[in-house]
Amino acid sequence: MKRAQTLIPGGVNSPVRAFRAVGGTPLFMSRGEGPYLYDLDDNRYIDYVLSWGPLILGHAHQAVVRAIAERTVRGTSFGAPTELESDLAARILDALPSMERVRMVNSGTEATMSALRLARGFTGRKKIIKFVGCYHGHADSLLIRAGSGVATFSLPDSPGVPPEVAALTISLPYNDLAAVKDAFAQFGEEIAAVIVEPVGGNMGMVLPKEGFLAGLREVTQAYGSLLIFDEVMTGFRVHYGGAQGYYGVKPDLTTLGKVIGGGLPVGAYGGRKEIMDLVAPAGPVYQAGTLSGNPLAVAAGLATLQTLAEEGVYERLEACSAQLVAAFLDAGKRYGIPVQGSYVGGMFGCFFAENPVTDYASAAQADKARYASYFHALLDCGVYMAPSHLEAGFVSLAHDDTVLATTCDAIDSAMRAIC
Ligand code: PMP
Repeated sequence: MKRAQTLIPGGVNSPVRAFRAVGGTPLFMSRGEGPYLYDLDDNRYIDYVLSWGPLILGHAHQAVVRAIAERTVRGTSFGAPTELESDLAARILDALPSMERVRMVNSGTEATMSALRLARGFTGRKKIIKFVGCYHGHADSLLIRAGSGVATFSLPDSPGVPPEVAALTISLPYNDLAAVKDAFAQFGEEIAAVIVEPVGGNMGMVLPKEGFLAGLREVTQAYGSLLIFDEVMTGFRVHYGGAQGYYGVKPDLTTLGKVIGGGLPVGAYGGRKEIMDLVAPAGPVYQAGTLSGNPLAVAAGLATLQTLAEEGVYERLEACSAQLVAAFLDAGKRYGIPVQGSYVGGMFGCFFAENPVTDYASAAQADKARYASYFHALLDCGVYMAPSHLEAGFVSLAHDDTVLATTCDAIDSAMRAIC
């Protein structure tokens, strides 16, 4: 870490990795295998970060490794179309019927940034609505009252984001449909889009209240605004059809990332044909990428989605999440520690909080110091959770019953240690 700090800002290539929220020095990893991560000293950890969500099959899954290896020997990038891109596109469109066309990019940030440009190009409007605590990557318009590392580091607005750009973003509390309706009553004709994480995953995990997503659908439609579901985290994680499949609400545009790249750098955005046909070269809204749709990333994504399409996958993932959250809630009761927990599909959230968490304000009231102690106690037991209380947890198909039982024991020990 000392060497890295002399070479890389803060020693890391993405802020949350630095352990600032929990203290201590980040572990440097050497390899991953199924549910396990190994650090440089060869200590083994059961991994619930999973590269922040993509590794839904676990580390170094055979099908993914084989797909990447097979493609690698045939060349790593062509900057020209391949058949494989259409195979992945077809699979994505088949899983998420609201997407009639999809464009591959290289990260979640690129996906949301491009979707916003497209929404503005389509509607001819400038303003957008986002929700406090929702993180949509680090494009200027979206780095306003965002969650994840921005929340952890208390940087509600980043220096470098021009105030003129920030002024076009309206930030509202998550799950507050009345606030959305008020904003539309005031600015309705100016709002290009509402962008939302259909399950909040960057202020810890926060479920949408009943009717919230459907309400967003209704009000955006009424004002000719687009609804963008940022499913970078939830896509192929909470359900094969994403959160939109799980909750039965159809957005106009969807952004994807993480799982669709199987651990390689990938993102995508897509939606209704009439909107997507505005994207260059079909239309005038410009967006491009030298490495977009590159064969390695597409092959890894395709192998991942093929495995996820098998029967029973999401039932298994949700059962894993449920077991972990139950262990956390039980231990809270047993040791008299106020806790909250929730899960959906292969993601889960755990807070040290007295009251249910429904938005950023309630998430921010959770006990950060206690989470830090819990995090380190779990690490001592060989379990690696997110190094911040404002992040979600992730499970994979490699987390078998033995691994889960070991984790539940570790949760009990960690809670006993911190009570
Ligand atoms: N949207 C959401 C919902 C995310 O969780 C993230 C990353 N955690 C992003 C966008 C940005 O993706 P990336 O880090 O790949 O740029």
